[in-house]
Amino acid sequence: MIIRRQTREIRIGNVIVGGMHPISVQSMTNTDTRDVEATVRQIHDLERAGCELIRVAVIDEAAALALRSIRDKITIPLIADIHFDHRLAVAAMENGAQAIRINPGNLGGPEKLARVVAAAKQHQVPIRVGVNSGSIEKDLLKKHGYPTPENPEALIESALSNVRLLEGHGFHEIKISIKSSDTLTTISGYKRLAGRTGYPLHLGVTEAGGLIAGTVKSSVALGILLYEGIGDTFRISLTRDPVEEVRVGFELLRSLKIRERGPELISCPTCGRTRIDLFSVAEEVERYVQTMTAPVKVAVMGCVVNGPGEAKEADIGIAGGNGVGIIFKKGVLYKKVAEEELLRVFLAELAVIEAEWKEKASVNGTGRI
Ligand code: SF4
Repeated sequence: MIIRRQTREIRIGNVIVGGMHPISVQSMTNTDTRDVEATVRQIHDLERAGCELIRVAVIDEAAALALRSIRDKITIPLIADIHFDHRLAVAAMENGAQAIRINPGNLGGPEKLARVVAAAKQHQVPIRVGVNSGSIEKDLLKKHGYPTPENPEALIESALSNVRLLEGHGFHEIKISIKSSDTLTTISGYKRLAGRTGYPLHLGVTEAGGLIAGTVKSSVALGILLYEGIGDTFRISLTRDPVEEVRVGFELLRSLKIRERGPELISCPTCGRTRIDLFSVAEEVERYVQTMTAPVKVAVMGCVVNGPGEAKEADIGIAGGNGVGIIFKKGVLYKKVAEEELLRVFLAELAVIEAEWKEKASVNGTGRI
């Protein structure tokens, strides 16, 4: 059983982070923030995928000004990512950013930091202190060396010294991240950090890679940390459409039985018994279930000999035969269909399940997880 580490609660728009509140799945847009239409379109896609917090890069004043129009058109909290320029941090908050990610130590001195903190207090905006292996102060690198799994101290000290700068201004609405592109450094760094602060932690492996490498690295690092009760928000960084980050994020939470969203798809790897083109069937079913919200288990199995039995716990599934396919429910045969009709009939069954779920959810008001 996972015992969640207790952290201070902070509020980002309508999402409470920390304490016993659900671990939030976050992503970041890869559009030009100044292009409001493209950015809003991507955020809407992310909202549909379940994204709960969205970060956008604020690289100049025009991007800071665009936040107002973006925020008006989206429903999830908007976080501004800012480096170095305290004026952009202030402008972002004045234009509706509901949290900002900065490193207080690189804003150019105490006066500039004071202006940022004053704006954060005025607009009730929390600050994420976000340290990356590549952005650690030179003196800390000299003192501790580049972060490694054995010695991630430079990351930790950098984060905590930045936190102290904020605390020095009486500011405590803080979230911390210490990102490394190395899986083991991420694990050891966050474990140590968790023992030394009560602020909520945002987890992530930075520059994790493409879909396969990035998913594996992030899932190993974040999976171990979440299993140990560490982490209040997280992002799976992928060199891909950010919607994939959110999908992977929820699969990770599902695999740890922390949270569930939408259907779970199980499919067999196929073997010598398979007599249908299961890969393309599985692909179509996977595409379809991504549009669903019903928390059902869906199986796609290659054969009628073992398939239904192997996927007994599935609410609904298909199993390929020779020229026919069967649709089964909880391991029991429900319908036999000609192979050419199998996908169409199965997707229609899924549509019925989804419609029934939505009907139920609208009655009891639980449209979400
Ligand atoms: S379900 Fe059938 S086809 Fe798929 S791996 Fe198992 S035995 Fe092979």
